[in-house]
Amino acid sequence: DGKVVGTAGIARDISGRKQAEEALRKAEKLSATGRLAAAVAHELNNPLETLLNLVFLLQRNASLDSTARECVDIAEEELRRATHVTRQMLAFHRDSSKPAPVNLSEVLDDVSDLYAPLSRSNGISIVKRYEADVTICAISVEVRQVISNLVRNALEAAPQNGTILLHVFASREWNDGGRKGARVVIADNGPGISPGDREKIFEPFFTTKGENGTGLGLWVSSGIIQKHGGSIRVRSDTRRGRCGTVFNVFLPSKFAHSQEQTSVGAEGAQPELNSTGERFGQRRSYN
Ligand code: ADP
Ligand code: MG
Repeated sequence: DGKVVGTAGIARDISGRKQAEEALRKAEKLSATGRLAAAVAHELNNPLETLLNLVFLLQRNASLDSTARECVDIAEEELRRATHVTRQMLAFHRDSSKPAPVNLSEVLDDVSDLYAPLSRSNGISIVKRYEADVTICAISVEVRQVISNLVRNALEAAPQNGTILLHVFASREWNDGGRKGARVVIADNGPGISPGDREKIFEPFFTTKGENGTGLGLWVSSGIIQKHGGSIRVRSDTRRGRCGTVFNVFLPSKFAHSQEQTSVGAEGAQPELNSTGERFGQRRSYN
């Protein structure tokens, strides 16, 4: 008779959708930033080259006194670094999607040059151990991106006057004598990653850096490694006095697309920076 005897309500949880929307917005912002960075690098490259040529001419000028010469030398060094950075940026964003030979120690050198100001201002020493000429067949910009993400994380984790280690050597896949390839080890003596966080670091948007982090570095990196048929694992220790983190990446010599196969487990410890004997927490194999 028009009298209300009850009500029914439907509640729908839309957090998933909201999170997906947020993820998309962040990803779009990121790719727009990338394009902008490439455009700026492109615009800067020519004037920088011109400046380098002018500095070269100045250095040859006999009338310079020693103070002026010193200034010109410093200018040259800084200009070289700036040109290097813009070239790197361009290489990063150029569409080179075909697998080609990639010299891993060259990539490590390029990346550590890129972050030289960051490491210098925090007094972080970068120790390099390269086996001569470790070359694999891979998509160069993507490998560079993986290494850049890992080195950046290590630099962000390392304490004032800390150390990071970059090690590259020819190797085989861990299991059953496996395929031939190369291994890149990036270690730091930062605070380490707690076991709880270790399970989440490869998830998109997981970050402990607040506004300063995107939580995309390791997620993107593990995607690229998967695409190359490689694997990544991390060992970390948070105990005071022996803390640190070791990321260990295997990339096969030959480029091969592959299916994901994630395994989490323990494996024998390897002597690295801050060797602790502690078992590593997370491992991803893609082969
Ligand atoms: P972001 O660096 O933007 O936070 P990443 O995906 O690169 O995103 O890393 C995710 C998280 O993993 C970081 O926020 C940090 O908590 C942890 N992490 C990664 N590398 C290291 C490291 N070398 N030492 C300590 N924590 C690390
Ligand atoms: Mg990062």
